[in-house]
Amino acid sequence: MNTQILTTPDGESYPIMIGSGLMNQAGEKLSELTAPCRVMLISDTNVAPLYMERVVKSLEAAGFTVSTHVVNAGEESKSVRVLGEVLEAFAEAHLTRTDLALALGGGVVGDLTGFAAGCYLRGIRFMQMPTTLLSAVDASVGGKTAVNLQHGKNLAGLFHQPIAVICDTDALDTLTPHELADGAAEAIKSGILGDEALFAIYESGTPSESAEEIISRAVAYKANIVTQDPKEQGVRKLLNLGHTAAHAIEILSDFGISHGHAVAVGMAIVTRAAAKRGLLSQDACDRILCTLERSSLPVACPYTAAQMAKIAALDKKAAAKDITVILPEAIGRCRIEKMPIASLEALFADGLEETA
Ligand code: NAD
Repeated sequence: MNTQILTTPDGESYPIMIGSGLMNQAGEKLSELTAPCRVMLISDTNVAPLYMERVVKSLEAAGFTVSTHVVNAGEESKSVRVLGEVLEAFAEAHLTRTDLALALGGGVVGDLTGFAAGCYLRGIRFMQMPTTLLSAVDASVGGKTAVNLQHGKNLAGLFHQPIAVICDTDALDTLTPHELADGAAEAIKSGILGDEALFAIYESGTPSESAEEIISRAVAYKANIVTQDPKEQGVRKLLNLGHTAAHAIEILSDFGISHGHAVAVGMAIVTRAAAKRGLLSQDACDRILCTLERSSLPVACPYTAAQMAKIAALDKKAAAKDITVILPEAIGRCRIEKMPIASLEALFADGLEETA
């Protein structure tokens, strides 16, 4: 098992435990952090039948009083309506400030449960047990929580750090290749941003046999960034590598292209653009594109630069006339660049051209 401690400048700190067999040890691990209390476990209709029983058993054996609430699997559950249902479930179970919400699932369950825990009784504790690669390497760490509004994704949310993240790598065995590739995109992103050894696992190693190392490395990278900048005022913006184009691609495809796959295309676009503008060597550019493809991720974009730039200009993050984009300079190093929104279309256009 690998354990890391994330500390925010506000003095909040929590352990992130990664390893095989941890669902059966959830109660034992939680006992090390809190006295027995009520636990409201939130999961979804795919994850609950596979893993809920073993987590409940472990918690009860350690003296916790457990209630469960299962939401429908899928992004539709990140809604104000389902948030209301989760809050009512907390109240129904008589959760108090000393009790705990537990998210057992992917990023949807994590974001929803974290938001509910952050606003119920003006904030109760919560724990993350991520079950997708994407939530293990990214969504479960950092304290961002949210639900979607009809006007867009993640428009209502708050920062609320968990008291612990327990990631059982065995859960990854039941993911589809598509879901694994979604998570791989975010892990490769961390490699490009700041961890060459993590990138190398995807470039020439065997990722399917390296789950604990991949998650540990991606979490270490993200934890370091979040520790420096918990509220995304500076370096945390790096984590948005590929995300400006990705967000536009998700919207243009009416969310038919999943987040990780859209991020892969977004990273391919900024990678080609950086190479074309002389910021990144052609060799590094080719290596990034090949590594994405080796993980069964797309690098070709089905939309035009104009279509994507139009959507990006409407994005909530682009309320001003400038936009921040992240550009790779080497494998393991990227730069944060502020540019006028009007320049974005040209950047995307550079990234759509084949440079080889
Ligand atoms: P998800 O939670 O919808 O999970 C994907 C699918 O896999 C779902 O159908 C789910 O039921 C199923 N599933 C989960 N674990 C499984 C398992 N072990 N075995 C079999 N099936 C399983 O999506 P996701 O990809 O985990 O996360 C995407 C969400 O995360 C988005 O809403 C995104 O906005 C959010 N996100 C949040 C952050 C953050 O910092 N808070 C970061 C990145 C993404």
